[in-house]
Amino acid sequence: MWLMGLGALDSPPVTDNSNLIARARAALREHFGFENFRGPQEQAVLAVLEGRDLLLTLPTGAGKSLVYQLPALILEGTTLVISPLIALMQDQVDALLRRGIAATFINSSLDASERKKRLARASRGEFDLLYVTPERFRSRAFLEALPQLNITRLAVDEAHCISHWGHDFRPDYSRLGEARAKLHGVPTSAVTATATPRVAEDIVDSLGLSNPLILRNGIERPRLFLAATSVDHAEDKLPVLLDRLESIDGAGIVYSTLIRDLEQLESELRRRGRPVLVYHGKLSARERRASQERFMSSKDQIVLATNAFGMGVDKEDIRFVLHAQVPRTLEAWTQETGRAGRDGKPAWCETLFFGEDVALQQNFIGWANPDREYILGVFETLRAWGERLQAKDLDDLRDELLVRQRHDHRVSISLKWLEVLGITEGSFEAHNLRVVRDLEPGELPDFVGSEKKLRGDLEGLLGMTRFATQTECCRRVLLAEHFKLDAPARPCGACDVCANGDVWRREHFERRAAVVAEPTSAPHSSDTPFARGDWVRVDGRHLGQVVGIHGEGKSLRIEVESIGDFRRRKVDPKRSKIEPLEND
Ligand code: ADP
Ligand code: MG
Repeated sequence: MWLMGLGALDSPPVTDNSNLIARARAALREHFGFENFRGPQEQAVLAVLEGRDLLLTLPTGAGKSLVYQLPALILEGTTLVISPLIALMQDQVDALLRRGIAATFINSSLDASERKKRLARASRGEFDLLYVTPERFRSRAFLEALPQLNITRLAVDEAHCISHWGHDFRPDYSRLGEARAKLHGVPTSAVTATATPRVAEDIVDSLGLSNPLILRNGIERPRLFLAATSVDHAEDKLPVLLDRLESIDGAGIVYSTLIRDLEQLESELRRRGRPVLVYHGKLSARERRASQERFMSSKDQIVLATNAFGMGVDKEDIRFVLHAQVPRTLEAWTQETGRAGRDGKPAWCETLFFGEDVALQQNFIGWANPDREYILGVFETLRAWGERLQAKDLDDLRDELLVRQRHDHRVSISLKWLEVLGITEGSFEAHNLRVVRDLEPGELPDFVGSEKKLRGDLEGLLGMTRFATQTECCRRVLLAEHFKLDAPARPCGACDVCANGDVWRREHFERRAAVVAEPTSAPHSSDTPFARGDWVRVDGRHLGQVVGIHGEGKSLRIEVESIGDFRRRKVDPKRSKIEPLEND
């Protein structure tokens, strides 16, 4: 069910492309060792070779990279690939080098002299593919070298990041249009697994694609079971999750937005003697890498993760993706469940639905969308602090702006904008943040803090909520409607509307082996006036939340997670003053 978009209707007439096809096929065999193109790859490669802009949406694992990598070998000059993560580009470049393809990356993992060397080699035309993150366009050295590089094509991987607006949003992605202009508007390919019309429109607008060929395809994995289960109380989630984890043997992911919930689930599982992996933004990069590596190489590990986990997780035998908390959009859910069952074997995808989580997600959306006034407010505060700025930290700024909620990221997002626009330099962490120039209200790009965007985000959540709470219509039919794809034949036989999930699990999965490890008892809390989850102020200064209570008597420590930088500190209540705060 390939859909050709707007662009295809009035594409320039191509007289004879058989020559191009032959060259593409030869390169496919010679450099990649594949006999045939998959799905729409050929059509996409052809469009790239003809110099057209391209927007390609295909499920993860479908082979999107080839669509910009292969033409790079045939086209003259270098293809500049924008990739969101250093680890991801490293993997891709390694894979290309193993195939004998001239590719490299330039990023902050290299020291300045190595970056310079690679830029010099790039300007001598030594690479067919050069990978960078969008942030690279802030580097003066890179911008200065750019005119010497013979960039003839731009490829934006994971292009949905352009319209991704969580707290982990990437302002530099939304400025790739400017980057492209610096490259004289070279023909561009954008590829992503997220396929809604809204995201597609954002990508086309933001990159300024002209008359692009748009190829789209939704998730079509008939052996993914799709389900959504409503619970009336927060406590009702645990039995459902445990039931799924026990009834499905194999590796899988449990997602939740709240780290607190992940920790709770972890300790419950641990108490039952079932150790699991965890992955979230509060662990160090090393701990996260260790979790990811163990997960990737295991057959039956369970990982409890925030949505920071997964981009680049290409493991084919993931047997389930559970959402302990309803995701923010159907796109996010599709993307995250798309990691399951890539080997074509059965896999289980289920989201729990609890009404209060929606309210929380709504807050998240608000907290991810500071309006223009707010950004100006942050700027004014920094400017007013002047010289004193370098003695301050993020906590101080959040206190000053009366931020009370741990997940309210408006301050951080505003700071990112100020940095991207070149209003500030340095950072709180390095104690060298400073305001270098004034912010003109008019210079914030239009979409920053716009009503339209906030509304779009809330509509996305509404769509997810409707999907998760309905029990009448085949889930695949609804997804097809949402992504504007052809509807599947009913009944699909693999969703909780068309089939019985318990039966399906019994038929398709082995139960997880019984626990052999000794149950480890959860640390019991000592005699303190504090409980996990309490909001406190430490030494009249740091605001935070109690996340753990350790030891007792003299060695009693209250573990407090600061709302400013999410750092955890073990505080000795005898040495520090810990005051309880009202929850709001
Ligand atoms: P995506 O970016 O869409 O998630 P990738 O580009 O990472 O997917 O490709 C997934 C896997 O499919 C890779 O291992 C790749 O080598 C393989 N692949 C891509 N195209 C083909 C093809 N035409 N034939 C066989 N394997 C392919
Ligand atoms: Mg990819």
